Amino acid sequence: MRLDPALAALAASTKGFMPDDEAAALREAAATAAPGVWLEIGTYCGKSTVHLGAVAAARGSHLVTVDHHRGSEENQPGWPWHDQSLVDPGSGLLDTLPSLRRTLADAGLERTVSVVVATTQQVARWWTTPLTMLFLDGNHTEEVAQHDYTAFARHLVPGSILAVHDVFPDPRDGGAPPWHVVQRAMREGAFTPVGEHGSLRLLRRNRMPLQVS
Ligand code: MG
Repeated sequence: MRLDPALAALAASTKGFMPDDEAAALREAAATAAPGVWLEIGTYCGKSTVHLGAVAAARGSHLVTVDHHRGSEENQPGWPWHDQSLVDPGSGLLDTLPSLRRTLADAGLERTVSVVVATTQQVARWWTTPLTMLFLDGNHTEEVAQHDYTAFARHLVPGSILAVHDVFPDPRDGGAPPWHVVQRAMREGAFTPVGEHGSLRLLRRNRMPLQVS
């Protein structure tokens, strides 16, 4: 699905870590997901949220996006992906929530997207809603990447789409935990690969029950 030019320009100017070609592949996959509730793990300033939200709006889906908005390890001071302009001068902490809210308002997506400000561990305590699309792009440590898969992939209904970002089978290209998540999803037999583009992997949920190990 093509983004209208105004939304494409907004997404391009929004801070984040998703190249345009991967965003296009994410939109294409989302366009095949059934209408329903879609979940994005890892919001940051909302770049991919604009891409997914635009498709959700067109499909009659509702997108929930989860982030604690304090940044991952690599966003903290002294790390290469730190952005001082995203520090809240009051608390001295990274805070990407104001940028996200501006992005969603500018995109006209506030009715399509619910913003959840929480860790995924907090959300896992209460989340019960079946999902037709899940985009995993949160904290990339092994512990949290595995947690997020365990906590949320179980809610994907048969035929739904699982997208995983920052998948690098070769460790020279990037961190391994998202790749381990994809390997686990394949090993557990509940998903079939339906596409890959750059570091984005796309899988479709099979009909068999999900055995989360
Ligand atoms: Mg990412």
